[in-house]
Amino acid sequence: MKRKSMLILVVVCIVMTISAFGQNEDSTYTFVVVDGEDWTPQIPKRSVSFRQFMDTNDMVFKDIYHLWQDYQNDLLENDMSYRKKDVTKYWYDGEIETYGDGYDLYKMLALSYYSVYVKENFIGINKRNDTLYELQSAYYNGNDNTFSLWYVMTVPVIKTRDGNYKFYNKFSLNKHKLTSYKIDFATYLFPQDYPFDKKNAKQKVEQVKALSKHFGLSNIKPIIYYVDFSYTDVLHTFGIDVSLGDYLDVKGLMHEGRANIPSRIVTYTSGGERHCHEFLHVLVSDMRGHYNEETNMFDEGVCSYFGDMQRKNYSKSVVQLKAFLNDNPQVDLSKDLCYAFRDKKGKYVSEGTEDQEHSITKEWLVGEDVNYSYIILAVVCDIAFRQGRYNKVRQMILEYTSDNDLYSLVEKHLGIKQSDVDKYIRDFLNATY
Ligand SMILES: [Zn+2]
Repeated sequence: MKRKSMLILVVVCIVMTISAFGQNEDSTYTFVVVDGEDWTPQIPKRSVSFRQFMDTNDMVFKDIYHLWQDYQNDLLENDMSYRKKDVTKYWYDGEIETYGDGYDLYKMLALSYYSVYVKENFIGINKRNDTLYELQSAYYNGNDNTFSLWYVMTVPVIKTRDGNYKFYNKFSLNKHKLTSYKIDFATYLFPQDYPFDKKNAKQKVEQVKALSKHFGLSNIKPIIYYVDFSYTDVLHTFGIDVSLGDYLDVKGLMHEGRANIPSRIVTYTSGGERHCHEFLHVLVSDMRGHYNEETNMFDEGVCSYFGDMQRKNYSKSVVQLKAFLNDNPQVDLSKDLCYAFRDKKGKYVSEGTEDQEHSITKEWLVGEDVNYSYIILAVVCDIAFRQGRYNKVRQMILEYTSDNDLYSLVEKHLGIKQSDVDKYIRDFLNATY
């Protein structure tokens, strides 16, 4: 679902802003006891400004602007509170019907755009026709000391027959321009001039079907797989004009994939039809029978082991991981399976300085064209598969609830204590690959 470069940047930026916000009381949130037993979290305020020279007194402007702000405030509150506000009311009914709980497709590529770690600069609203408006807004780093643009988004707004305004996905306006090609459960979408590889797409669909049988899933519900030339193209189709994770590679075309599990839409850049990592995210969620927003890293391991990661098979990435771990004995997988600090020379270290240990500055372990953190979890999946085939991996998928429980999951199912994990994985890799 999430690929190396963008996510790392987002994680790093969030980490940076979290530490920056650490001193800022307005931006931390605390829980307050009401009537002795009811807990009400105090939700921090989002920071929003307008672009200059706009008629902010116009009634239509006011209606749409306030709707957008109310929606984002409710999203933030839902993230930080156990009380869930109904945020479907802001969206056009047809979008909920089409995409289910994944109806806000902006969240797939612009993650938590409404969070307190970014500031919003509202760019404006334009009338496109009698029933369609579009709003545009920019999001930038919430840390006052630096300016870093995170996202610019364009969101269609529909005026309904009864005069209400409702949000709509840019993807819904754009998808009709794409060519559609169905193979079994998969409907591929791609631009008319995209050289779609039908043969490989069919092969991947067959691979996913075979895997689903092994895991006891009798049939796979439809999944949409949208493939486009570049990450910029993918973003634009979804209404994201600028993204923090784009334009990061001067050497060549960036390759990025995402899965929006509730809407069963996955996307990948050029050549995505030759890979199935994103399909497997949906499959893993289907095995659980419910969508768990919390689950992340173990799923990445499963999808990277049975599928691929950054357009490479596991058999290639695992050799890279072996070399990385042999070159970096100071990385201790018994301290943390997926994250490490950086020392002054930029080397990964599991033991941070005192300052580092007290701040949230851990990063994923990543190399030039491999996310080691993903492959470490793929190795866990590999060991599980060797011990107990599909059934053991399935049990681990079903019992995995949070990234915080990785060690207990490994100890329970693989019989490896946390203190032995580092040695076990290193020995396993050196003996096997
Ligand atoms: Zn993934």
